[in-house]
Amino acid sequence: MNVVLVVFQDAPPDLARRVASALPFPWHADEPARRVVDFKPLLDQSRLQLEATRLVEMLPADDPARCWIALVGVDLFLQPLAWVCGVAPVSSHRGAVSWARLGEGLSAMSPLMIERVVKEVAHELGHAAGLVHCPVPDCVMHASLYPDEIDLKPASYCKPCLASLQQLIAAAPPPHDRP
Ligand SMILES: [Zn+2]
Ligand SMILES: [Zn+2]
Repeated sequence: MNVVLVVFQDAPPDLARRVASALPFPWHADEPARRVVDFKPLLDQSRLQLEATRLVEMLPADDPARCWIALVGVDLFLQPLAWVCGVAPVSSHRGAVSWARLGEGLSAMSPLMIERVVKEVAHELGHAAGLVHCPVPDCVMHASLYPDEIDLKPASYCKPCLASLQQLIAAAPPPHDRP
């Protein structure tokens, strides 16, 4: 299934392209899209964070043939969690990933940060397509909150998750041309 990564104005150049080219099977990335949005008025003023669902709602809601992921540097939260690196409602075909907490102590665009972003995007894509968390530690759908937990899992899906994902993708309608 095709993926559209939507980056916002604060994205390091080429981040989306590098992440898109490293996504695990069975995803294919379209040309990343870029949007300019002023997040300041959208931030929760007491926490100076963006509620993750507000970001997801900026993505198209009517595209069953693709999955859309917003990539941002702004810090996200999702009640009751104080912060999240990513979110994607199950089967919604859209989600959001923030690298705000993925690159602490790392230089921008370091290979480790790219790897973490790829894993987060692959994880949220799994949810967006219909997968839930996986008990297998050796699977990108294994739940993880902290960067060092993300580092322990691969960017790929375990066999049962991959089989479910392929079934979900096969059941999706074929892509239609968008203007
Ligand atoms: Zn998850
Ligand atoms: Zn799995």
